[in-house]
Amino acid sequence: MSPLTIAIDGPSGSGKSVLAQALARRLGYRYLDTGALYRAVALAALRQGVPIDDPAALSRLAESLVLRIEPPVPDDGRQYTVLLDGEDVTWTLRTPEVERVVSAVAAVPGVRRALIAQQQRLAAGGGAVLAGRDIGTVVLPNAELKIYLDASPEVRARRRQQQLREQGIIQDYASVLADIHQRDQLDSTREAAPLRRAADAIEVRNETLTLDELVEHVMRLVEEQRRRFCSSRSP
Ligand code: C5P
Repeated sequence: MSPLTIAIDGPSGSGKSVLAQALARRLGYRYLDTGALYRAVALAALRQGVPIDDPAALSRLAESLVLRIEPPVPDDGRQYTVLLDGEDVTWTLRTPEVERVVSAVAAVPGVRRALIAQQQRLAAGGGAVLAGRDIGTVVLPNAELKIYLDASPEVRARRRQQQLREQGIIQDYASVLADIHQRDQLDSTREAAPLRRAADAIEVRNETLTLDELVEHVMRLVEEQRRRFCSSRSP
């Protein structure tokens, strides 16, 4: 059967990256968590002292960086390894400092332009799962399966808090929830590629399902789409 391109979008903490990775594994597809690219630009801006309110400087920065996503080595719970100009920054991308500025950086059209080609290249030819905010709307508008994964801000904040705890970062629930609200607000109201459900995306709520249940549910949607695309491609 020919491989599909799968877009998974949704707000912070909805569980996109865990779902996308599990699907990619089950299907033998490539996987890209596009948020990592925006986080890497945000980290570089913080390190180099590029003002977060200077779109031209941020765009230049995004164009100048060499970002590589590689397999998860060492095996320390990471989903993948991110190299920023050759340096392994995988865990640094998850810190609250990066999280506080990433949405402002991602709102800059020049930053998005600089990162989009890499995302489309990875998906070319099918057999790829991409997770992000604008995959179904902008990056891969022709993806054969689009999922919009959502959950209440409270559930997402609990999930984020747990992820941070696993990295040894203790942040109180109220401030994680406030960060989530702030990122939701910035991501969904920005002009360039705002977070929204594509008209042809299937909405999935990830509140009470276990990961296995979620993956099984989405695998059924994958099978349906595969059948549909197979029958529409056959003579
Ligand atoms: O998914 P994650 O939380 O790692 O994404 C970090 C930030 O990167 C998001 O809050 C959003 O501002 C930005 N982003 C984006 N478009 C994507 C993926 C992430 O704007 N496709």
